[in-house]
Amino acid sequence: MACAHWRRLPLGLAREARERSASGWVDSAVQCQLSAHVGGEHFGFLDDVEHGTALWLRWRGTTEVALVVLSDCPVAGPGPDKEGCCLFADHSEQHTWQDTVEEIPCTS
Ligand SMILES: [Zn+2]
Ligand SMILES: [Zn+2]
Repeated sequence: MACAHWRRLPLGLAREARERSASGWVDSAVQCQLSAHVGGEHFGFLDDVEHGTALWLRWRGTTEVALVVLSDCPVAGPGPDKEGCCLFADHSEQHTWQDTVEEIPCTS
């Protein structure tokens, strides 16, 4: 189960995210990409920055929200296709390929 939390980007952060993203386009709201969790920080994928890193929106509660650049998670799945994880290095919760109930498509 994916985390159901969504966060709308504050205007200032949305502008900064567009300037930093590779494509120049980011969504105005993002869903947390972690599997369902209780408490802690939420992470929504915004866009790739350069090879191996991506821009994420990190938030906790309603007031703490920040742009962060994180390295891609290097852990691939055990199957023959070595499915990559869509999250960032050292994330909490499960890798995206561990989520067998619901597929989270990689947006990158
Ligand atoms: Zn979350
Ligand atoms: Zn991972």
